[in-house]
Amino acid sequence: MTKVYICGKLVDKAQAVVSVFDHGLLYGDGVFEGIRVYSGKVFLIDEHVERLYESAEAIRLEIPMTRAAMAQALNETVAANGIHDGYIRLVVTRGAGTLGLDPKKTSDPQVIIIADSIALYPSEMYQQGLKLITASTLRNHPQALSPRIKSLNYLNNILAKIEGADAGCVEAVMMNHLGHVAECTGDNIFLVKNGVISTPGTDAGILEGITRNCVIKLAREAGYEVREKTLIRHDIYVADECFLTGTAAEVIPATSLDGRLIGDGKPGPVTKDLLERFHKFVRNQ
Ligand code: PMP
Repeated sequence: MTKVYICGKLVDKAQAVVSVFDHGLLYGDGVFEGIRVYSGKVFLIDEHVERLYESAEAIRLEIPMTRAAMAQALNETVAANGIHDGYIRLVVTRGAGTLGLDPKKTSDPQVIIIADSIALYPSEMYQQGLKLITASTLRNHPQALSPRIKSLNYLNNILAKIEGADAGCVEAVMMNHLGHVAECTGDNIFLVKNGVISTPGTDAGILEGITRNCVIKLAREAGYEVREKTLIRHDIYVADECFLTGTAAEVIPATSLDGRLIGDGKPGPVTKDLLERFHKFVRNQ
């Protein structure tokens, strides 16, 4: 029986419930993390806990436990569910309040941890690469709601995801308000051109992906030049390779955009090398 961490303890899935007055539900007022478990170990736990607390700070939500207690709760939830390789969804909501927006009228932020199996992209997509479209839905304007906050408001990404699905694509590229490439709906994007790797900087209005940061570090350690820079759609069309990074995806090749092949339309050597290096890093953690 799946055990869920809620209100400071592990309870059966059926008992893991929140109030209909919770502002997480009423307004998307809360933050979350998606984290992998590899060989029973929570992957990059400190980085995920830190990003969660940063997201919470940005929306002025005080998480009612220390980072160390949060890490312990994550480990306990994984152990209680016997997860060897899986996925954790960590959610912190503002808590139950009145029907008005005012967060001061809420109490008791809810910390919820669900440890489960993981839904992965089909393996053919790693062999052949996935197809992308450019979504017409823009990524959130950073001065409206910073995409660096992993908040419970994912509607603009969901709308872009629907555009992708309508076009037969599992991912879609989102532009920012300046028309520059930001990221995909649930993954960061990288290009390779003449051996140099580039990816939009955090100032492009992206979620600063933990897999992204890990891959940048691994690539630099391997001797690749990695630039965080402004990218436009043209750069994707003329790139030699394109790949996406994310907690679930790890490193996945993308081989076409809007029906146009990227490079020769096959996963490239740099992408394959980085996926291998990422797997090696995961195995050694
Ligand atoms: N961008 C967005 C919008 C995301 O939701 C995610 C997480 N699924 C990512 C990028 C990748 O981030 P991470 O590597 O931390 O999973």
